[in-house]
Amino acid sequence: MKPTHIEHIGIAVKSLDEAISFYEKVLGLTCYAVEEVKDQKVKTAFFKIGDVKIELLESTDPEGPIGKFIEKKGEGIHHLAFAVNGLSDTLKEVEAFGVKLIDSTPRKGAEGLNIGFLHPKSTFGVLTELCEDPNK
Ligand code: ZN
Repeated sequence: MKPTHIEHIGIAVKSLDEAISFYEKVLGLTCYAVEEVKDQKVKTAFFKIGDVKIELLESTDPEGPIGKFIEKKGEGIHHLAFAVNGLSDTLKEVEAFGVKLIDSTPRKGAEGLNIGFLHPKSTFGVLTELCEDPNK
């Protein structure tokens, strides 16, 4: 696998409104998109700094992945996303190394990206997302 860059850093927050206000007023970044990803049970807000995005994640359901994460670990860094070309093949390649996958085939994520997650048990505790822009 040859990731091209860090696509984004995902951060779990309890309140998107409060977190957006911090990122805008204190850090001086601009939220350029808010999007609900229904099958992930989250609302997301995006910021860009250089080539890297920050994705804030607020749960819309306590039983969803972000709801459970916050209950167990509290707010904080949730995942790291690498941009790759050829996501489907990359997931197979990674699996061949014996890495446990959460998604063995790509699915739709926020911002129209195709995404796939690797299991944190196989990635030294960091939930790792691979993503591909289908329009590139
Ligand atoms: Zn993400």
